[in-house]
Amino acid sequence: MDATASGAATASSQPMIRLEGVGKTYPDGTVAVHELDLDVRRGEMVCLVGPSGCGKSTTLKMINRLIEPTTGRIILDGTDVTEVDPVQLQRGIGYVIQQIGLFPHQTILANVMTVPLLYGESRSTAKARALELMETVGLETSYAARYPHQLSGGQRQRVGVARALAADPPVLLMDEPFGAVDPVVRARLQDEFLRLQRDLNKTVVLVTHDIDEAVRMGDRVAVFAVGGRLAQYATPMELLARPADDFVADFVGSTRGLRRLTVTPLREEHLEPLDGISGGQLGAAIDIDSSLEEALAALLRDDKAMIGVKRGAQFVGVLTPNGVHQALRESLR
Ligand code: ADP
Ligand code: MG
Repeated sequence: MDATASGAATASSQPMIRLEGVGKTYPDGTVAVHELDLDVRRGEMVCLVGPSGCGKSTTLKMINRLIEPTTGRIILDGTDVTEVDPVQLQRGIGYVIQQIGLFPHQTILANVMTVPLLYGESRSTAKARALELMETVGLETSYAARYPHQLSGGQRQRVGVARALAADPPVLLMDEPFGAVDPVVRARLQDEFLRLQRDLNKTVVLVTHDIDEAVRMGDRVAVFAVGGRLAQYATPMELLARPADDFVADFVGSTRGLRRLTVTPLREEHLEPLDGISGGQLGAAIDIDSSLEEALAALLRDDKAMIGVKRGAQFVGVLTPNGVHQALRESLR
C-alpha cells in the first residue's frame, strides 16, 4: 500500500467526533456530565437517550462549544474543537433544536436564506439554495412567503432542518428535534429524516428522551444515566437484546422484545418455499426489505397463516409466524 492509500484509510477510519474524558460541572456544582468517552463514526447517526436531566443536551452543546467542557477533549474530524474559533465552529455544524428558533417576523424563505447569506452568497444564490432546501425537506415552495406562525409544528420543524442543512455541514447536532409535535407527525418526520439521511450521509448526533425514537433512528444508541454516566453504547439490536445492567434494562422497558421487531430485518433464509401454496392462503405480500414489525403486522392484519414476500416484483418465498420467531431468535447470535 502506498503512503496516500494508507493515509486515506486512516482518515476514514478515524471517528468524525471523539469525546475523551469529557466532563461538565456547572458553576453551582452540578455534575452534568462525568468523564465521557464516545466515538461517532463518519456518516453515522448516534442517538443520545436517557431520562431528563442526565446530561444529554449539555453533551451536545459541548460538541459545538455552546458550552465549554470542564475536563477532557473533543476532537472533531481530527481537530481539537478548543483550537477552533467558536463562531467558525458553530457555522460548520448544523444545529437543530425543538424550539426551532425561527425568526417570527421573517418569511420562511428569509429564515432559510439567513445561512447562505451569512456565508457571503449573493441574494439570488441564497434564494435558489433556500428553495432547493425547502424541497429537500419536503416543504412545498408555496410556503416560502408565509411566516412561521402560519405553519404547523411539523412544517416549522422541516424549516428548522432546512436551515441547519443550508451550509451543507458534515455534522448535524439535533436536540429533541421532533419533540414538539404529535405522535403521528413525529413518526412522519422521523421517516423523512431517515430517508434524507440515506442521501446526505451526515454525521448526526441526535438527543432524545424517547427510547423508541432512539432505536428507530440510531445506528448506535448511547444510553445515559443521571450525572452524564454512559450506561451502554451499542447498536439498537444489541441494546434491546442484551441490556448492560438493570438501569438500561429498566429504561428500554419490559416490552423490549416487541421493540426488537422494529430493528430486526427480514431475511430470505427465514422464508419458506412458495411451492404448492395457492394465492388464497396468502395475505397481501410484503417486501423483503421490511422489518419484522412490518411483517408481523401484515400477518396479523390479514389473519392468514402466511404472507408472500417479494423482492421487487418477484416472489421470493412465504413468511409464517414461525419464521418471524426464528428471525428474532437468530438476530441474537
Ligand atoms: P438533559 O438534556 O439530559 O435533560 P441537561 O444536559 O440539560 O440534561 O442537564 C444536565 C444537568 O445539568 C441537569 O441536572 C440540569 O439541571 C443541569 N444544568 C443544565 N444547565 C445548567 C446550568 N446552566 N447551570 C446549572 N446546572 C445546569
Ligand atoms: Mg435536554
